[in-house]
Amino acid sequence: MKKCPHCANDVNDAASVCPACTRELAGKRCPDCAELVRPAASKCRYCGHSFAREARIADFEQFSARADLLPTLLIRGRLIPQQIHLSPEKITIQSWGLFGFSRTDEDIPWEKIAGFHYHAGWFWDAVEIQTRGQRANWIGCMRKADGVRVKELLERMKE
Ligand SMILES: [Zn+2]
Ligand SMILES: [Zn+2]
Repeated sequence: MKKCPHCANDVNDAASVCPACTRELAGKRCPDCAELVRPAASKCRYCGHSFAREARIADFEQFSARADLLPTLLIRGRLIPQQIHLSPEKITIQSWGLFGFSRTDEDIPWEKIAGFHYHAGWFWDAVEIQTRGQRANWIGCMRKADGVRVKELLERMKE
């Protein structure tokens, strides 16, 4: 017999879950709340931490794309194309103001993303990213191949 570290109940040596308090006696530790959860769990049952997402982030391949210059000039009336960079931690969208005098870098951590819209145009694609607590971010005038890649990465990271 061993003692449950959570409720001090006596439990069988072979048990992996305490029958009295139903908490795990062995397993992996959640990095967010430090509780023990089943080794195969994809989500922490206590705080909702996603191990599946953690695994996806670990094998994430960075990707960067620059919007096309032509539609940037024609449609957006800007001289410098927008850029998007996707890393394991966040998405950064770099936008330039009129005539390139000002630059805005929007950092969007993956956990803040609430959803996204992918707009497939005739020649160029656009992606709008909705966030919790921040305004939506938008990048347009992207080449088809880049737009599709951004969409794929967003889909993969979705829970
Ligand atoms: Zn217990
Ligand atoms: Zn947890």
